[in-house]
Amino acid sequence: MKEVRWERMFPDQLERAFENCPLVYFTYGLCEPHGPQNAVGLDSLKAHAIARKAAEAGGGIVAPPDYWHIHEIGGYAEWAEKSVGEVERKWLTAVPPWVHFKNICYQIRAAEEIGFHAMILLTGHYGPNWKDLNRLVELIQPYVKARIHSLPDFEANQPGFDRDGKSSADHAGKVETSLLWSLEPDCVDLSRLPKKEEPGPHFAMGSTAHESNRIVGDQMVADEVDWLVRKGRELLNDFKEADIEKGLKTFEDVELFWQNVVTPVLGDFETMQSTWSEDRSETVSPDSVWFANSKIPKRAPR
Ligand SMILES: [Zn+2]
Repeated sequence: MKEVRWERMFPDQLERAFENCPLVYFTYGLCEPHGPQNAVGLDSLKAHAIARKAAEAGGGIVAPPDYWHIHEIGGYAEWAEKSVGEVERKWLTAVPPWVHFKNICYQIRAAEEIGFHAMILLTGHYGPNWKDLNRLVELIQPYVKARIHSLPDFEANQPGFDRDGKSSADHAGKVETSLLWSLEPDCVDLSRLPKKEEPGPHFAMGSTAHESNRIVGDQMVADEVDWLVRKGRELLNDFKEADIEKGLKTFEDVELFWQNVVTPVLGDFETMQSTWSEDRSETVSPDSVWFANSKIPKRAPR
């Protein structure tokens, strides 16, 4: 199989791959509790492996995976208190929203400077971060020539586990466990599942984990790969050579873009809200290990 992972390619391979298909995939996820049966890097392992298969099938280059993502803040802390519980060690590779999203601006700048015509930004980690990613792409698109599409991987998994269009996403339940089982079999071990009746939480295991099925995982992977290949072609077709007056060429351009365009609206991002609950009433218990980072810090940009 041809190599498509940027970090493992020789310069002549990169040049050839770029010439054949100037599309880059960026993938996002973090190390986070995913039940006793999944390796903690599930989100990133999944997104990167799917992007790799898509590039193998349809062309393009897959950027090194970004294993640092948003957690522990706002609604993520509320979710963790319930789904992970009072653990001694969290095993998270978490950063706050303003770090994650600024890094993405730098990644886009690097790909734009190389001259990619299209970029697909794929997050395997959920909660509302993907909505903010879409917002960031809207904000940054006028400053770059490349056509950008961002998505949580479940958007590409529309048939879903039960082929009903609904069961396309979960957290460490049958969907994610089956996807990882198909993509990285060494990273799933069903013998580690607790007995069905054993009360949880089991390190954020999904309630349907016992229904995981590798063959269904293979099918969902194939669906996602098809979707991404189609989207990549669409973006490449939409690309036009154009002069952009205020492009993102230098580090300074990125800092100015961040300061002038993102900072004024960052406080509206969903990952910057101190709760996800509709009535805004939910709070993390002050005794919880998830309390310390749950509130948006006063010094955070907003
Ligand atoms: Zn996940």
